[in-house]
Amino acid sequence: MNTFYVTTPIYYVNDVPHIGHAYTTIAADVLARYHRQLGDDVFFLTGTDEHGNPAAQAARKKGITPQEYVDGMVGKFRALAERVNATNDFFIRTTDPEHRQAVQNFIQQLYDKGDIYLKSYEGLYCAACEAFYAEKDLMDGKCPDHGTAPELIKENNYFFRLSSYQERLIEHYENHPDFIYPATRFNEARSFVMQGLEDISISRATLEWGIPIPWDKSQVVYVWVDALLNYISALAYARRENLVPRFWPADYHLMAKDILKFHAVIWPALLMAAGYELPRHLFIHGYLLMGGQKMSKTRGNVLDPFTIMDKYGVDAFRFYCFREVNFGQDGVVSMDGFESRYNTELANELGNLLSRTAAMIGKYADGRVPAPPAQTREFAEGVQKLGIGVARAMSLAELTAALEKIWQFVRSLNKYIEDSAPWKMASEESRRSELDQVLYNLAEGLRICAILLNPFIPEAAAEILRRLGLRASPEDMRMEKAEWGITEPGANVAFGDPLFPKLD
Ligand SMILES: [Zn+2]
Repeated sequence: MNTFYVTTPIYYVNDVPHIGHAYTTIAADVLARYHRQLGDDVFFLTGTDEHGNPAAQAARKKGITPQEYVDGMVGKFRALAERVNATNDFFIRTTDPEHRQAVQNFIQQLYDKGDIYLKSYEGLYCAACEAFYAEKDLMDGKCPDHGTAPELIKENNYFFRLSSYQERLIEHYENHPDFIYPATRFNEARSFVMQGLEDISISRATLEWGIPIPWDKSQVVYVWVDALLNYISALAYARRENLVPRFWPADYHLMAKDILKFHAVIWPALLMAAGYELPRHLFIHGYLLMGGQKMSKTRGNVLDPFTIMDKYGVDAFRFYCFREVNFGQDGVVSMDGFESRYNTELANELGNLLSRTAAMIGKYADGRVPAPPAQTREFAEGVQKLGIGVARAMSLAELTAALEKIWQFVRSLNKYIEDSAPWKMASEESRRSELDQVLYNLAEGLRICAILLNPFIPEAAAEILRRLGLRASPEDMRMEKAEWGITEPGANVAFGDPLFPKLD
């Protein structure tokens, strides 16, 4: 059996869950569901990043301990995953005692083999970023993310010999052109590495809210090193067995482009140092923009996923995310754009296809899928080609391309109704077998749409199968069932409420 391991980044607990978190989580869920439909052994991980300065400061303001603070915040992120129907197998928190232990073991191992050393360091430090900046990376002498002037601080820090992994990293990039998708991000990451790598500080002396360095309790592990290790540590304790041999290396780490550098340079070097294989692919998605700008609370241009899901349902939101903006690129989203996709594509094209098919089978065939006089070769071949195209796109995490191919099929079925005009056939007894053929083809086409669409719109997909007289079990949803000619004549077809009701 193939295994498939997909991750989201762990989300910083201090944040308010927004469309960006929902986007990455849904993308990972689409891949996880797709691979389960293939019959793969799947592990899907998400969770929260809970250490570091912002959480400690927020706790201080409220007069509670950092642990109390993060315990109170984590629920929002668990709720987000549930709300978008994410089927994550585990939710990791970096304050889990098992994670803490795993991080300590990991860096102790690197320290013992000489990859970590102590150095006195003076640098420009942004406390909000918890990062040192080189002069050249500042904007007008200020942190590019926070717009505040960094402090010049001097402390003893533990350094990781990142520079000594440069050659091996370059070699890895050369041998694995599929390490990072899309290709533009691969090139960007490779050029970081080619520019030359300096050793990085992996501990902080001025912070208390973190995982203590095991051999020097006066320092804590740099929050990014702590966070990156979640992808491995979770496998060791998510279930009662150690899943590392079964699921590592990860097949896909999904993330937005702002954290590419950590995942493309530091993470693989840490893994090399500890003797782990590198993840197979990183997929870097873009930003969903409002009016050409990155959404942010302070700009007040937030498209709130919760409002959309409350009004239109989870599936509509999941669909829109990958339909409107090509996954992997930046793109503009808007409420108008959402409503237009909802009405045109979900309500009219897919919803009406189901309603019309069920109504015609009800009216012309007593609510049962009629036996087709023959199997239609052009449909069988078309569906086979579609299946191959979707499989290829999904293997590259090209979610938008996969969805577009499926949608072309939805449209072709609508056109088939218009072209064949079953209502005319129904008025002529001599055309009975033609009519049966059309009705069978529509039911079969819809069943295949439901299977292929299930990773994206799972509630609607299951409902389509139920209306077609199937149980919508995992067996019914298997990708291998997205093949022409499987529907048994005689299945009861139910007519029901619109799949996506039109809303004004
Ligand atoms: Zn900063």
